[in-house]
Amino acid sequence: MRRFLLVFLIFLFNTAFALDIVYPTKTNCTVNAKSIFFMGNVKFEKDLTINNKPVKIWYGNIFVETFNLKEGENTFVFNSDGETKTYKIIRPAVKKSSSKTSEYQEFPNNAIVYTKTKDIRTAVREKPGKDARRVCDLPKETSIFAVGKKAGFLKLYTSNKKELWVSENAVDRKMFSFLSQLTKSEIYSHRIYSDSYYDYIEFYLSMPVLYTVEPEGKHLKLTLYGVENRYKIDAKFYRQDCFPHLKVNNEGNNIEFYIENDKNWGYWAGYQNNRFIFKRRKAPEPDKQLPLANVNIAIDPGHGGSQLGSVGPTRINEKDINLSIAFKLSDILRERGANVYMTRLSDSDVGLYERVDKANENKSHIFVSIHANALPDGLNPMERHGTSVYYYNENAKELAELIGKNLVSDMGLKNDGVRIGNFAVVRTTMPVSVLVETAYMTYPPEYVLLQNNAFQKQLARSIADSIQSYVQSKIKAD
Ligand SMILES: [Zn+2]
Repeated sequence: MRRFLLVFLIFLFNTAFALDIVYPTKTNCTVNAKSIFFMGNVKFEKDLTINNKPVKIWYGNIFVETFNLKEGENTFVFNSDGETKTYKIIRPAVKKSSSKTSEYQEFPNNAIVYTKTKDIRTAVREKPGKDARRVCDLPKETSIFAVGKKAGFLKLYTSNKKELWVSENAVDRKMFSFLSQLTKSEIYSHRIYSDSYYDYIEFYLSMPVLYTVEPEGKHLKLTLYGVENRYKIDAKFYRQDCFPHLKVNNEGNNIEFYIENDKNWGYWAGYQNNRFIFKRRKAPEPDKQLPLANVNIAIDPGHGGSQLGSVGPTRINEKDINLSIAFKLSDILRERGANVYMTRLSDSDVGLYERVDKANENKSHIFVSIHANALPDGLNPMERHGTSVYYYNENAKELAELIGKNLVSDMGLKNDGVRIGNFAVVRTTMPVSVLVETAYMTYPPEYVLLQNNAFQKQLARSIADSIQSYVQSKIKAD
């Protein structure tokens, strides 16, 4: 009897959920986009109509269907095997954007604004705007001098053509001053040294100053802005084993260091109190036996725990697919001699900065974050799918391009591009960091493949091959 009841309940459960609409998650919602897609699954061999039109059912009983939205209310009636569900989607009226763009205002009569940063980490950006590229992070209480403002951002005084901007909200106690009264930071001492993992350039300053580290030709150019250079720092002093070809430019208010860039296995610049540190990861020692011997690689399975990532049309979570691929990738890399560190080994919550910090604690040369992609509303999953790779810093571009190119040719996936992506886990310059969007959860054939063990292994092998050829060509260049 009990057994019969259970069978009956399972039968009830199955029929009650014959039509499972996974996305959108609510039957009534507001969508501010020109289109929406519905994604879910139906019971085996059941037909589905939306607003009386038949919908394609993909292998795996999946459907993903895109509709344009008109302004106001849009009604969608689903019908599958006698079951009906209704969705009401509101698209708000498109607001005409005000044409009032804010103009750049220079402070009059050569005046400058003197202020200090108030956050622990203040982003300095290339352009005014929250989404503009971050050039450096300044610690709290850094003195900065601004010559003008635009759109809530201050343009900083740099004494060269470099444009640097800081949000007005990140500073306090603004005072007007004059360029002639600009105070400079004094270099108390400086040194160059190495340990087993890094090469260092260090300055003890009277106060923190702006800095930038950027690729320039074959070099990495490190600039400290507004420093009093009493010691007349000389490149000869610095030409030691760790930076044998260092060039120093001492003129004006800034000090510029030209550091060879081909040995770049990741670097970091920033402050510990008034100590400015530039440190560069040392190259791994090559080993003839194993191609990735002595290479430290961090593998980051995206999301985890309460962070599901995207949810596929049969409710499989991205976080689980990511972890499964990451394990396979780690195994292959270990077989080839790499020291692999995984940012999570189970279905657990791990913070984004925690992932980066752990990778650095493990002295990683390379950081690879594994994800599966999903589209937002407004885009059509049938048109946009395939594999894409993201990087943020120039030093990771080569690895990102190699992984992207090989995934497309090895897996036969559509090329969804290799591009700069403003993700916390790839913004770090140390290690060399990329984020791989393997394939799309929102495109049925790729979603089915992503769950396939052989496909995951092949993906992992392709990524491992790219890492290996990147490492080998770089070691040769060193
Ligand atoms: Zn993801």
